[in-house]
Amino acid sequence: MLATLEKCPALVLNADFRPLSYFPLSLWPWQDTVKAVFLDRVNVVSEYDRVIHSPSRAFRVPSVIALKEYAPRARRPAFTRFNVFLRDRFTCQYCGNRLPAHDLTFDHVIPRSRGGRTTWGNVVAACGPCNMHKANRTPREASMPLIRAPDEPDTYQLQDMGRAFPPNFLHESWRDFLYWDSELDPW
Ligand SMILES: [Zn+2]
Repeated sequence: MLATLEKCPALVLNADFRPLSYFPLSLWPWQDTVKAVFLDRVNVVSEYDRVIHSPSRAFRVPSVIALKEYAPRARRPAFTRFNVFLRDRFTCQYCGNRLPAHDLTFDHVIPRSRGGRTTWGNVVAACGPCNMHKANRTPREASMPLIRAPDEPDTYQLQDMGRAFPPNFLHESWRDFLYWDSELDPW
């Protein structure tokens, strides 16, 4: 019984009915969803067929919920490994190969040993072979031009990137709230 419920996460939308996050997709486990419903913090937008019982009532497990209060987004995304990869579409910025995160590395465009800093503007996603080949050189010295000059994305740009990476599992009730203006890009 619980095993089935574990497969009933809710897609969490902001008060503007856009997902709180595309990638990773904002999903809450059913326990958190039910709690938020009882605390009156969310509106239930869609439900699973699955029914659960509390001591006093029975109700269907929500599949899509929307926050009642708009959660403002930070304008500036965190400078994290994941966000750098997302900005670069999980693509090596030298050879253009798209790879899973665990096969990607960070590359300092201007090497650290030459004063290059660890910033949005100087760090790109790179595959292992390109990173090794480039080694302690600048792109010009290594004759390895960047596909795109790195810069600091804003939150909306990162969200747009995230739309290109659909999750493994999509409940049908979520589709109305995702990808409304972009093609599914199977990866
Ligand atoms: Zn590469």
